[in-house]
Formats: sequence, C-alpha cells, structure tokens
Amino acid sequence: MSRWLLGEHLDGQRLWDDVRTMARIGGLEPKGICRLALDEQDNQARLWLAEQGGALGCSAYYDMLGNVFLRLEGRDSALAPLLIGSHLDSQRRAGAHDGALGVLAGLAVLRTLHDQNITPHRPVEVVAWTNEEGARFAPGASGSSWFAGQRQYDEIVNAIDGQGIRFGDALTQCLALLGAHGLAYRPRPFVPHAFLELHIEQGPILEALGKPVGVVNGIQGVNWYQVTVEGQANHAGTTPRNARRDAFDGAHELITALKAATLEQDDDLRFTIGTFALWPDSVNTIAQRATFTIDLRHPSQAVLSTLDARFHELAEQQWSSCSVSLKVSSRVAPVMFPDCLLDALRESAGRYCPDVPELVSGAFHDAIHLVHVCPTAMLFTPCRAGISHHPDEHIERDDATIATRVLADTTETLLNC
Ligand SMILES: [Zn+2]
Repeated sequence: MSRWLLGEHLDGQRLWDDVRTMARIGGLEPKGICRLALDEQDNQARLWLAEQGGALGCSAYYDMLGNVFLRLEGRDSALAPLLIGSHLDSQRRAGAHDGALGVLAGLAVLRTLHDQNITPHRPVEVVAWTNEEGARFAPGASGSSWFAGQRQYDEIVNAIDGQGIRFGDALTQCLALLGAHGLAYRPRPFVPHAFLELHIEQGPILEALGKPVGVVNGIQGVNWYQVTVEGQANHAGTTPRNARRDAFDGAHELITALKAATLEQDDDLRFTIGTFALWPDSVNTIAQRATFTIDLRHPSQAVLSTLDARFHELAEQQWSSCSVSLKVSSRVAPVMFPDCLLDALRESAGRYCPDVPELVSGAFHDAIHLVHVCPTAMLFTPCRAGISHHPDEHIERDDATIATRVLADTTETLLNC
C-alpha cells in the first residue's frame, strides 16, 4: 500500500490556530488558562471539539463519564478504532498546552485525513478524557481510569469539590449539555485497537537536548508513605539529654537513613518528603510526634519493592528512642509501553528527528490507565524550562508541529495494520 504521508501533509499553522483558539476558552489575563473539570469552560471546550469534528464529517459521542470522542469511520466499521487523545481540563492557573495539545494533535490528524480525502481501513477516534488533572475533583484521571476499568463509577461520582458540589451533579449537567448539542450517547467503554497520547514533557530533558520530540517508553511507578515518629513531649529546658525522646531527632535520624538507602539506587530514583509536621508544635516543648510523607518513584518495580522492604525494616527500629509507624497510602505500579508501538513511534520520529530521545514519564497521564485495555504509548514535546501547571508554561510552535507529524505518521502505520 502506498503511503499517505499524513505527517508531511499535516497543516502546522492550522494546528497552532486550534491551540490559540482552545487557549481562549477559559483564558486568564494576562496569560494562562483555567478550565476546571466539568466547569462551564471545560464543557465549552468539549462542545468546540465536537463542532470541529462535525465539520470534518466525524460523529461525536460521549459516555457515562462525559469523555468525548470524535469518530472518523473506517471502511470496516466493525474493526476496533485507533484512539488518540488526552485531556482538556486544567489546573486552576495553568498553561494552555498540558493535555489540550494532545487532543488538538489528534484533531489535526483527523483534519489531515479529511483534507487528503482518505478513508482509513480502520476507524480512528480522538478522545478528550474527563478530569485528568484532579484539580477540582480529586483524584484525577477520572474518565480514563473508569474507561479502563481501573476505578468504579460510584466512587468517582461521589467526589466533592471545594464548593461542596458533587462530581455526579456537575457530570449530569455536562451530559445534558452534550446531549442537547447533538452528541450521541454511547455509555459504555470499548476496547480500542491502540491508544496514543502526545503530551508536553513537563520536565527539562528534551529542551536540554534540543529535541522537538521524545518517545516515552514508560511511566514510572509511585509509592506514597505516611510516617509517624512517636516520642515524648517534655520541657525543652529542664529535660536532660539522656532522658529526651525527641520526635524531631527521631524523624531526622530516620530520614537520614531512608535517604541513604535511596542513594544506593540509580539516578532515576525520586525520593521526596513533601510534608512534615511536629506536634505539639511549640517553641519550648520537645516534640512528641513528627509526621511526614514520602513520595517514592522509579521506573522499575523491582527497585520500588527493594526500597519498600528496606523502608519497612528501618521503621521497625527505634530512632532517638522513638517508635515509628510507616504506612503505605498509595501504590501505582510502573508501566512499560509495548515494543510494537514504541517501534512504530521510533520509526515515525526518525523521519523528522535523528537520534530521537527515549524517556520515562515522571508524571502520570491518562495513558497509565489505558495500558490495561489496549497497547498504549506516548510522545513528549518540550516545554520551556520544564514549567507546567503555571501560566508561564510555553511551547514552541515548530516543536509541536513536528511532534504532531510524528503522531500522524504513527497513526498511519497503526491504521494500516
Ligand atoms: Zn496533562
């Protein structure tokens, strides 16, 4: 079969126009965007997407979670569709490209197929997943985790936002709006042929390498721990050194030992203590209790398991005569994307970018859930200084275009197999 050359035909200016248009939905002054999941702006973004799809002859669907799909029919409509996309919701003060670029890149692929008058053998769908960010309703990735059977509907819809609004109530309004605008209701998930997600890197690696695109070969796993060190509160001035059971001292020694254990591992390991509190939190009282959290990340499950065992061993010991409780509050296993898709991405990327870098995602994305239902992989494009979740987030138009061309060529490969 002759090649369509989708990537070469892709209209970079049109993609950038779409990026600018989407950035105005929920746009902040002087810059940045706010599209919280299921708010008015987020819903407007869905409707805009559906409208664009309609103009391309695509059908627009929504499901029980408000995930929106644009479907370009294939010659064999019974085949599982290739799915491309990301999310349109944002953090409260965000940049315009986190998530949106991945959806608009998918739209750009549909526009190219339409412009070239191509009907693929297999259907292709572009998706905007509901509430990836978790900024309004925590936790995030609601739409994709439900679609992939990783989280239950009942659990998701009972989340409450800061104003006391239930996820389920905001969702009901959203679904009514989508229905009223002519989108078709397709309530249940389906099994896609494969899922591709283009996303901004949200880290500094590609920019430092001067590369417009990177192949993401997996997403690192995360363990969260809640640690409590229990000592004895007493007078700061009158308690002799040998009688002190200072929870701060215990925590300090324990953290030093935990940190030392992590330094025995490779450079990919991330160990973060993001919260730390003392009780009773008084200037002239020895701390009775220290509590802190650990966020531990690595691409290898073996490394996470080794450290998990080591952390529990260390927590069995006494530190400055204090006892320790260490509890796991969350575990997400690392994901490695399958070679069949990585090879397709490498080959496409090689056409536009020699020595295309490969990297592991440090952040979660919708793709981490899709791996449970179909072959899944991701592309990254750089963002300036690695900044995201902030109005200063910035990407270069040429980088975004090249990354989207790679996505388009990979789509072509996957639609023909
Ligand atoms: Zn994102």
